[in-house]
Amino acid sequence: MKRKVLNFLAVSLCLSWGISMPAVAQDPAKIWLRQGPNKLMDTPVVMEQMDIARDLAGDDPYFLTTQRLQCNDIDDTYTIVGPPGFNGSFTGAPPAWKEVPAVPTQVFDNVYYVGGMEVGGWLIDTGDGYIMLDSSYDYGVEEILLPNMEKLGLDPAQVKYIMITHGSIGRGGGDHAGGVKYFNETYGTKIVLSGPEWAKSDQTSIDHDDVIVPTDGQTLTLGDTTVTMVNTPRSVGGGGLSYFIPVKIKGKQHLWATYGNTGINSPLANIEVYLASMEKWFTYLDNLEPDIAISSHPFVDGSLDRMALIRECNDRSGNKNKWKGHGGWQNQECQRNPFLIGKEGARRYFEIMDQCAYVRYMREAAGISNTGLACLNGLDADGNCLPLP
Ligand SMILES: [Zn+2]
Repeated sequence: MKRKVLNFLAVSLCLSWGISMPAVAQDPAKIWLRQGPNKLMDTPVVMEQMDIARDLAGDDPYFLTTQRLQCNDIDDTYTIVGPPGFNGSFTGAPPAWKEVPAVPTQVFDNVYYVGGMEVGGWLIDTGDGYIMLDSSYDYGVEEILLPNMEKLGLDPAQVKYIMITHGSIGRGGGDHAGGVKYFNETYGTKIVLSGPEWAKSDQTSIDHDDVIVPTDGQTLTLGDTTVTMVNTPRSVGGGGLSYFIPVKIKGKQHLWATYGNTGINSPLANIEVYLASMEKWFTYLDNLEPDIAISSHPFVDGSLDRMALIRECNDRSGNKNKWKGHGGWQNQECQRNPFLIGKEGARRYFEIMDQCAYVRYMREAAGISNTGLACLNGLDADGNCLPLP
């Protein structure tokens, strides 16, 4: 049954993540979703696809977070809000909105989180220096990455590579490439990014010999770590690089997959590229079978909550900031690293990403905005969205 349009909410179409609401001071890991009275304009076809995404998420709180955000599933129960001070768009320059540090955390034996609450920042210890996965906004070096590394006793001079999921170098715009200039100039760190992102970068700001633009399936080895890279563009002419990274948990080898893009953006042609990238990604997933899946934006998959749980469990064992698993891991929830979701779980996470891209595709094809709260082409006499011209 088609939902009746009771009120037409004017929502800016430029928003990738949802509608702008005043942020409320509360547990920072919980601020991304909150209840709100929204009336969606979704058609039965869209709702049918949304239900498939909801079924994939099941009752897993982390999967549900991903499903709600990626699908913009802001029904009568949920709406989406951002971090403190969020003004409806992550692209607004400071001080309109500014990224804040997350609590730095050792997540796996050889992996540390040193990033922010909105954009990821990870360090993989390879035994022969660090690989940094994503590097925040430009101001994030001084305000997030370096202080967080210092808190965990990690030496910035050991960052040999920065791998970028998305975002271009320089020009002050990238949300994941802000640390490139500092680390490259200070420590000679080499940079890995996708071809389209490199094409959009300020190429005068870095020695081209320090830049690696990989082909699909190309690997990069540092120390004991070999990373596999796959190009997964998000839009027509857009970039995005996805990674498979071997990690250790309590000495055992696991495989972490992180996808190069998060936001799904108009118009339809862009979402078609996004869906094609997901399709390619699944061929790699089914071949390499990762058992860990983590978003490049930590609020999208409950990563902030999971890190809080790791810290809490470590504190209970009296083993602060060290994920070793020795001692006091008596509680059920502390028996297993919360990021270790198994091969089926990792595949299901990406199925949610894929299905949500399809929901957004169907929404837009039906003439509905990506939030589901506005018509792109006006209303008909019955109050339903007119299809796209
Ligand atoms: Zn991003």
